[in-house]
Amino acid sequence: MRNLVLFGPPGAGKGTQSEKLIAKYGFVHISTGDLFRWHTKNDTPLGKKVKEIMNSGALVPDEITISMLQEEVSKNPDATGFLFDGFPRTVPQAEALDAFMKKNGTAIHYVIALDVSEAELRARIAKRRNESNRPDDEEEKLNKRVNEYFTKTVHVLPFYEKQGRLKTVNGIGEIENIFKAICTILEN
Ligand code: AMP
Repeated sequence: MRNLVLFGPPGAGKGTQSEKLIAKYGFVHISTGDLFRWHTKNDTPLGKKVKEIMNSGALVPDEITISMLQEEVSKNPDATGFLFDGFPRTVPQAEALDAFMKKNGTAIHYVIALDVSEAELRARIAKRRNESNRPDDEEEKLNKRVNEYFTKTVHVLPFYEKQGRLKTVNGIGEIENIFKAICTILEN
């Protein structure tokens, strides 16, 4: 089993690259953002709890996020590999993920960060805001999401870097070229 964390700020292209990686390698895709959106859309008890937080662009508390993720992993005992997208976003989440994978007799084998400058990603999300109707793509909320990334999530990078597990891919350029760079990491 090979497991991958795909890391990057909002608008870095994680969703696009995830789709391509799943098609090629058959990963089970676990996107905490998609899971939270599913819960809010279906008005589940968890959805009710996180709706306001998500709409504001803030991060959902670790405890809620980690237990949702663990439940999702446990639903897929036959998976040959997981692709974690949008998780971990804090150091406690990264530590919990390692501990959980270890308990399951596996590990995180690859951590790939899509590197996109703040200016480029603000431009990309502004474009997406015009094309999507995600409530958290509105300007103020978007700023909050980008700020959450640069104040909290960015600390996850040195966590993996110190352990020599982080690989960085330039996230600016042709989708295909970025995809190829990720595949090269996974196949070497
Ligand atoms: P995303 O689609 O990954 O940008 O996630 C959308 C929203 O879901 C975020 O702005 C957070 O409110 C929440 N969320 C998703 N993943 C996490 C996470 N790992 N930790 C905390 N909150 C999260």
